[in-house]
Amino acid sequence: MSVSGATQANIGVVGLAVMGSNLARNLASREGNTVAVFNRSPERTRLLTQEHPEAGFVASETIADFVASLSTPRTAIIMVQAGAGTDAVISQLSDLFEPGDIIVDGGNADFTDTIRREKAVSATGINFVGAGISGGEEGALKGPSIMPGGSVEAYKTLGPILESIAAVVDGVPCVTHVGTDGAGHFVKMIHNGIEYADMQLISEAYDLLRRVGGHSPAAIADVFADWKTGELDSYLIEITAEILRQVDAKTGKPFVDIVLDEAGSKGTGVWTVQNALDLGVPVGGIAEAVFARAVSSHPEQRVPFRAVVTARPEIAIVGHTFQEDVRQALYASKIVAYAQGFDAIAAGAKKYNWNIDMGATATIWRGGCIIRAQFLNRIVDAYAKDAALPTLLIDPYFAEAVANGEAAWRRIVSTAALSGVPVPGFAASLSYFDSLASERLPAALVQGQRDFFGAHTYKRVDLPGTFHTLWSGDRTEIESEGSTH
Ligand code: NAP
Repeated sequence: MSVSGATQANIGVVGLAVMGSNLARNLASREGNTVAVFNRSPERTRLLTQEHPEAGFVASETIADFVASLSTPRTAIIMVQAGAGTDAVISQLSDLFEPGDIIVDGGNADFTDTIRREKAVSATGINFVGAGISGGEEGALKGPSIMPGGSVEAYKTLGPILESIAAVVDGVPCVTHVGTDGAGHFVKMIHNGIEYADMQLISEAYDLLRRVGGHSPAAIADVFADWKTGELDSYLIEITAEILRQVDAKTGKPFVDIVLDEAGSKGTGVWTVQNALDLGVPVGGIAEAVFARAVSSHPEQRVPFRAVVTARPEIAIVGHTFQEDVRQALYASKIVAYAQGFDAIAAGAKKYNWNIDMGATATIWRGGCIIRAQFLNRIVDAYAKDAALPTLLIDPYFAEAVANGEAAWRRIVSTAALSGVPVPGFAASLSYFDSLASERLPAALVQGQRDFFGAHTYKRVDLPGTFHTLWSGDRTEIESEGSTH
């Protein structure tokens, strides 16, 4: 197999494991695209072209042939293992590409790597675009949500190609030029953080319905299927119902009962929280979801601890509105998780100088990705009304939705506490809500403590300026030049 020489492809894919193969097939299925393919090990390339002759791939077994098979400006999407693999392929392509050509990294890169790579590659005149691609294997094949960064110039060539393969909702492709350099991978990272929170909250709702409500997985599947018909309508609610309905063929038990309860992760949730910490953005709902997976993955603590904590609380008595309370608590907590995710995007945009359109971000998450949901239309509406919303929670729709669910939310968090059922996501989200809603926070006392031991100073509610109390002296107050931070 080698390049025909005559055939010129308008787009190429490097890396033909499951994601790259599916993305290449998706590209090939769209009118006007001829797709060049290359993989480090030629076996994968051969397999793909043998199994999918209909795609008309232009296949190469050397990177030089692959580059020669691309029409200019050459455009190649890298779908290889994130990290060293990506750097290796970028280096190979950079040696052969010319100024004006476009290298796209569609893998799950850390956005700081993307910023570094963009700087290095663009210095040679070659465009570099880090594009977050969400939707897993199926999305890659049928239509993902795509979050490209990089230059405006590169997007002119790349945009129509990505628009042709993205998921489409209400006639709008789920792709937008998110911002320059690492903006696309940053937004993809936050998407994944929100995904962690969404999954955790749904799982807490299931646990409450099971352990407090006493319902079977099959019955809870029906509850989720019912919730999908309302404001909670989403892909994750839909697949949750299907998973809960699944019965294990080997044992006849509910599938959910035969799965080891230790949740794994690939790191993007951790990245979201690490970056939120750096940015000073509270993302408690997302952080608790990441920590909940970590707690679950320590059987060496859970098993011996259970042996010493033998007396567990009685399950609290629940009223007939319990199921509806869980639904409302789930919706309110979900709103908080999304609000926090959008806050993190706003803070990232400010720090890295990206002009990110929040409404467009919500728009491209409506299809193709894991957090796709009806709900995102409400976020689009909110930012259409006010592009500079300080928090989604003050948009009238969300403010009312949370207010409507508030009493149920409190009943659920307190019932969970009384019943010994962990609800870290629900509880953290409610505490965040209460923090925003409190007239005064005990942060005033924290400032007093900081001033006491470290002379970090404080501001007064009634006077301008910065102050320090002479705690180890006569405890009079002096005006200070210092900052309170
Ligand atoms: P993967 O298992 O992450 O990586 C395997 C591919 O990387 C193979 O094609 C492999 O080539 C290539 N590769 C690894 N090191 C290389 C190197 N040094 N030089 C050249 N090629 C190298 O593949 P995947 O699961 O299809 O994922 C591809 C990318 O998409 C990853 O960045 C992944 O994180 C991301 N991803 C995204 C989603 C999503 O939902 N968006 C889901 C899964 C994955 P060989 O065949 O020669 O080994």
